[in-house]
Amino acid sequence: MIENYVRKIFTAFAGDEEIRLAIGASYLIASVLFILGLKFLNSPRTARRGMFLAEAGMALAVIATLLDHEVVSLEWILLGLFLGSVAGYIIAMLTPMTAMPQRTALSHAFGALAAALVGVTKYYTGHVKPDDHGLMIALGFEVLLGALTFTGSMVAFGKLQGLLPGAPIQYKGQNFINITTIFALVASFGYLIYRPDAATLFYVLAAIALVFGVSLVLPIGAADMPVVMSLLNAYAGLAGSATGFALNNNVLIIAGALDGASGVILSIIMTKAMNRSLTNVLFGGFGAPIADAGTREVKGTIKSQSAEEAAAILDVADSVIFVPGYGMAVSQAQHSCKKLVDYLIKKGKNVRFAIHPVAGRMPGHMNVLLAEAGVDYDLLYDMDAINDDFATTDVSIVIGANDVVNPAAKEDKSSPIYGMPILNVDASRTVIVLKRSMNPGFSGIENELFYKDNCIMVFGDAKKTLEEFVSALQELDA
Ligand code: NDP
Repeated sequence: MIENYVRKIFTAFAGDEEIRLAIGASYLIASVLFILGLKFLNSPRTARRGMFLAEAGMALAVIATLLDHEVVSLEWILLGLFLGSVAGYIIAMLTPMTAMPQRTALSHAFGALAAALVGVTKYYTGHVKPDDHGLMIALGFEVLLGALTFTGSMVAFGKLQGLLPGAPIQYKGQNFINITTIFALVASFGYLIYRPDAATLFYVLAAIALVFGVSLVLPIGAADMPVVMSLLNAYAGLAGSATGFALNNNVLIIAGALDGASGVILSIIMTKAMNRSLTNVLFGGFGAPIADAGTREVKGTIKSQSAEEAAAILDVADSVIFVPGYGMAVSQAQHSCKKLVDYLIKKGKNVRFAIHPVAGRMPGHMNVLLAEAGVDYDLLYDMDAINDDFATTDVSIVIGANDVVNPAAKEDKSSPIYGMPILNVDASRTVIVLKRSMNPGFSGIENELFYKDNCIMVFGDAKKTLEEFVSALQELDA
């Protein structure tokens, strides 16, 4: 109904051909905006502009699509838009920063489910003829990737939310089951391309893909989760791109391809950051024994000091490197950290931040928090750019980071994080660690750093401790 009125209004100004051209032009502009958006997301300094451009592109693409004469009923679309927007707004407002990874996993799951359902509907409503081999390729990819990303992302959500064990879940015969599943997927997809009218097989393909998503993500866990997340992001994008081919929608093809490509690139960057390969992350767990984490005996004693004592060390330091981690997000300590940084800079000290690529619980987590607090981007250094400088630094302050500064990654071959490049804080003259207890970080293993001779622990909530540092320094200066 509404679509008829809308169409009448538009056809009063332009004919069908003009509307078709306007839709095509809007898709082109939207695609350019997506590409520029990704480009600007390259640096924290331009990331906000990038987000804004990408959002504008998406709004333009949605509006242009609504004008398409193939839109059958605007009422249902508007109802969906309303319900989706309300649900999205509520979820965004209620989700704390620390729960962003699991919220992202849910977004991947729902986006992929939508793609899979569109594919199933297209097939179910008889759009695929026996000789539609090309369309079958697009629909097959759409449903296969959509279904496996849906269940895979739900398992990732369960792991990150703590509903499922975070460690890799392995079982006997896992290798055999996964290889058989991959074989069944390839065989049924191949036959469907040859015989697109084999309806039962189409639904069997969707069901196998759902099971495969679960068995793909279950054996992955601990420190490998960021890689899986960005890979699922890539799969969801590729499912969207396949949907574009099935529906003949150019902007969906381009947006999905961009999403897929950037997801794969991010996965590769993160595997490199962890000194792993993509195949090792995906298939390393298959059939392998669970790493005997934490079997190495940690030697040394813990030196716990008060905030005032630690501040006295800071007071005489010339160079300071801050190393934020997940605990800074939990404590929301970024603003107090900025206060301390400003104070130290005012006192003439050389202050910098070292950012590990997988610190926190999502890519760029620390950059987002520090940008929110207004920390100057010029003070932020990537791991590779600053790692050699720890050896000539007076004090490193570790704010709620644990795995990303754990020397076991360099020294203990039995450790699950062995091989992951870490920030060399232990090379600095003094390390001050802010955390609440001796609890381990995400990977669940002990940290030998805390027992080293040059390490001082200041126990307590990071935000409170940083505030106490500022007060203590002010008192020393008074
Ligand atoms: P970790 O998870 O290793 O450690 C966080 C530390 O913060 C804990 O030891 C905890 O100790 C401390 N902490 C928690 N709350 C507070 C608080 N209020 N005040 C002070 N300290 C606090 O974090 P890292 O950033 O070092 O490492 C990230 C880990 O997460 C890596 O293993 C990475 O692979 C994984 N990961 C990363 C993702 C990403 O995309 N970045 C995604 C998913 C996983 P205590 O409880 O004693 O205070």
